[in-house]
Amino acid sequence: MRQIDVSQIRDVVSELCMRANYELGEDVLHSLEYAKARESEGRAQEILQMLIDNAKLAKEERLPICQDTGIVVVFLEIGQALHIVGGDLFRAVTLGVKNGYEKGYLRSSIVDDPIKRENIDNVPPVIYTKITPGDRLKIMLISKGCGSENMGSIKMLKPHEGGKGIIDFVIRWVREVASFACPPIVVGIGIGGTFEKAAMLSKMSLCRKIGEFSPISHIANIEKILFQQVNKLGIGPAGFGGRTTCLAVNIETYPTHIAALPVAVNINCHAHRYKEAVI
Ligand code: SF4
Repeated sequence: MRQIDVSQIRDVVSELCMRANYELGEDVLHSLEYAKARESEGRAQEILQMLIDNAKLAKEERLPICQDTGIVVVFLEIGQALHIVGGDLFRAVTLGVKNGYEKGYLRSSIVDDPIKRENIDNVPPVIYTKITPGDRLKIMLISKGCGSENMGSIKMLKPHEGGKGIIDFVIRWVREVASFACPPIVVGIGIGGTFEKAAMLSKMSLCRKIGEFSPISHIANIEKILFQQVNKLGIGPAGFGGRTTCLAVNIETYPTHIAALPVAVNINCHAHRYKEAVI
């Protein structure tokens, strides 16, 4: 059986935290450049150019893309033929986040109690695990800004509302909140499962590269419709108007109950910080 030591996981997580905060993904950068080329308004182009310059400077100088370095969300896909040795997996991931944020001079933003709101640190991260075939560990890490996180929503639709109901709900919601989420945004959507599964799927959908669509054709179709409709809202970069309100709409789905149609929306901002590694 293949073995990996938790110390290796800790160090990879630490590196991913720093890279996520310094290096905007090439896919996000290209989508900002593409959006700038599509804009006709001078102000929208100017803001997009600032975001591009900011991302390039952050990478060159190893500085965070945004002062809000986010709450870290980690998805672990653990091969069932893999043996993790040397200690506790969750502790290793938590230590990796702590080390990465300390070493990288990244802002601590986590309060230990949501009501008392004391002891600001940058851990624990939010960790999800999934058992998969094989003997590899895939680590997917998002540094999630909470200006955009606060703009999430979930609705238990009636099953008969179907695709149209989903589109109406998402558009109504995004129209209301997009300008508060540091646009251009990435709209993550989870459909199906249960109340909490839909919310988790909406976050998971943010791990998909910009420009990739769902492999399920009717879901990809909803993504394309929503992408067009969100960009027609005219909210634009930084909320100052323009053709670019979103860079992508990503949907993940899961089977659900005959009486249910949960739909969750998790919005990410232009500082769309995602990195992954396979050990
Ligand atoms: S929502 Fe995103 S861009 Fe806005 S402050 Fe937070 S991390 Fe920065």
